[in-house]
Amino acid sequence: MIIDPYNRVHNYLRISLTDNCNLRCFYCMPEEEYDFTPASRLMQPNEIETIAKQFVQLGVTKIRLTGGEPLVRKDAAAIITALSKLPVTLTLTTNALRLHHFTDVLTNAGIKSLNISLDTLQEEKFLLVTRRNEFKQVYNNIQLMLQRGFHVKVNVVVMKGLNENEILDFVAWTKEQPVHVRFIEFMPFTGNKWTSNKVFSYHEILELIQKQYAIIKLQDDAHDTAKAFQVPGHIGTFSVISTMTAPFCSTCNRLRLTADGKLKNCLFSKEETDLLTPLRNGADIIPLIHENIASKAKELGGQLTTNFETLHTDEIKNRSMITIGG
Ligand code: SAM
Ligand code: SF4
Repeated sequence: MIIDPYNRVHNYLRISLTDNCNLRCFYCMPEEEYDFTPASRLMQPNEIETIAKQFVQLGVTKIRLTGGEPLVRKDAAAIITALSKLPVTLTLTTNALRLHHFTDVLTNAGIKSLNISLDTLQEEKFLLVTRRNEFKQVYNNIQLMLQRGFHVKVNVVVMKGLNENEILDFVAWTKEQPVHVRFIEFMPFTGNKWTSNKVFSYHEILELIQKQYAIIKLQDDAHDTAKAFQVPGHIGTFSVISTMTAPFCSTCNRLRLTADGKLKNCLFSKEETDLLTPLRNGADIIPLIHENIASKAKELGGQLTTNFETLHTDEIKNRSMITIGG
């Protein structure tokens, strides 16, 4: 088992397939010109499979593929198919842009649930956030996945002054459609223009919704990062991921593997352990995994505090979100 100094058992691995993407969300990509990692430095399909098997041997039961945009990789289908053979719940976080090419692959891989990112229901604002005019394709693909019976969670990063005025529109969407909207507090990463006054907090989100709707709290699972609610009579649900104001570190069971094969034990950890180079050199990576988890901080990578108003982003040492894998 993979257990950290705080007795947290880690059985959930998020694997980034690439730091490349077909969108350019300003809160995710670094500001400056960015060179994507060359293919030779990315984990190859057989390497991903080998590393994933080692984690399964250590007790991992759930794997999420992410990125960058996982579905821009030419070999994404082969990777999904290979990992679907492992005894894990396999799932995916995607911007949905290429999902229509993958419906059969996902179904055949036994994937039932998808996390899809969409921060606005307005076409022009989508262009502003992602720098690509692709709202319709993303929205249509969400509809397609709903029709195909997938459990669809929609990730909405809420940023003050940008999209908090759409929170009620997203909640209204849950009335007739079985979408599970997840409002995410805006988090700081290297180069993402985060400032504390752009955080629209869990508390503010709930307050705004409650002015319009009576809501009920739903039961959360032990390791859920989202606090779930429903408007009575709506078929979908909404939840809030309150990383900045009410983190869920005490029940953390997650590990992250970057597309270049580095293990991160927290989204906000400074340190990372290279697994890919030792693997390529024929070394046993299991001791490295244990070494990495032994250094896991109690909360927020040991770098952030919930008093986010006092945070100075230049003091945080991390990657940009697109290179971590959200
Ligand atoms: N490309 C895929 C997508 O957009 O869903 C997967 C990768 S993306 C990095 C994973 C998730 O991280 C997305 O839901 C995205 O909105 C979220 N994310 C990225 N930067 C963020 C930030 N600064 N604060 C909060 N969430 C962020
Ligand atoms: Fe790409 Fe997802 Fe990051 Fe947007 S959030 S730039 S879609 S990786």
